[in-house]
Amino acid sequence: MTIEVGILGATGMVGQQFIALLARHPWFKVTWLGASQRSEGKAYREAAAWRLSAPLDERVAGLQVDAATPGRAPKIVFSGLDSSVAGEIEGAFAEAGHFIISNSKNYRMEQDVPLLIPEVNAEHLGLLQAQNARGWKGHIVTNPNCSTIVLSMALAPLRQFGLEKVMVSTMQAISGAGYPGVPSWDILGNVIPFIDGEEHKIETETKKILGCIAGGRVEPHAVTVSAQTTRVAVQDGHTESVSVALAQKPAADAVIDAFRTFQGKPQALELPSAPRSPVVYLTERNRPQPALDANRDGGMTVSVGRLRPCSILDYKFFALGHNTIRGAAGAAILNAELMHREGIL
Ligand code: NAP
Repeated sequence: MTIEVGILGATGMVGQQFIALLARHPWFKVTWLGASQRSEGKAYREAAAWRLSAPLDERVAGLQVDAATPGRAPKIVFSGLDSSVAGEIEGAFAEAGHFIISNSKNYRMEQDVPLLIPEVNAEHLGLLQAQNARGWKGHIVTNPNCSTIVLSMALAPLRQFGLEKVMVSTMQAISGAGYPGVPSWDILGNVIPFIDGEEHKIETETKKILGCIAGGRVEPHAVTVSAQTTRVAVQDGHTESVSVALAQKPAADAVIDAFRTFQGKPQALELPSAPRSPVVYLTERNRPQPALDANRDGGMTVSVGRLRPCSILDYKFFALGHNTIRGAAGAAILNAELMHREGIL
């Protein structure tokens, strides 16, 4: 079985991860690439500054980059478009009948758009029906912001304990800013305590992701989230320092057990990109680290460690995930795999 897929924003950081991850995918085959006028008409190998250590798939390298307009793309299109243009372009593709699986922020908080992490809120796919009211022939499904997905996956196992408050400070990799991204003069030997819009995304998206469907819409989770975000001189992998208040005051062993035993639909369905364990708890006292742990299980696992009591809230710990894989392209591919298995695509 081969399902043809396209990639919007194929030349960017996230677009390149799509190409790398789909190179040997058992179901999906990349047959169409779209990007800006800067790239249109060029062979992909000339249009993109390939930034990944995985070699560029020769077949994709020879594809010609198309304009980001609907018409020639296959039905299923992954999007890694810059958010300044994603709203209009993704909307046009959905209207024309495409199934857009997007990384951009533009539609994430819309009431009829799933903000999906298959292990956490697979039932949010039920929102898709409501999109028919837009008059689109297609649909849009989104995955969360790259730091939000790491946090939400670490928090999902804790919902059972009555998750009340979360404080999070992030240390985010430079690949999260796209290419060429942050100037080397700004980031080398430095920490930048500002990522535009990031704190608001973490504070709002997390509540939607952890929320329940009620009356055909998402009832956001009641948890209060306070976020601070920084950019650090790390290539890949967002690290997060997290403190949580839990109503039921569980023992530390019960919290660690909840991380370790957390499973979701991708594991039950054995989806091709599903990690064996969506959350791994590391016992070494100096883990997780981006250089050692970001690529765990193909970059699809969130690593958690150093759980200990917090003298302000109840517990504190570190969480880490690969921002362009679990936080972007890998997340979108897992979304597509779930939708395919559920008969939605
Ligand atoms: P990027 O490296 O800057 O890539 C942006 C892509 O958008 C390029 O392919 C670019 O094509 C295309 N583009 C820009 N303007 C366009 C236009 N007018 N028409 C059509 N295409 C246009 O950005 P990125 O880091 O890959 O991020 C892509 C999206 O994913 C963003 O919305 C970002 O917020 C989100 N995201 C990123 C990460 C991450 O870790 N990097 C994680 C989660 C979500 P050209 O090369 O032709 O200019």
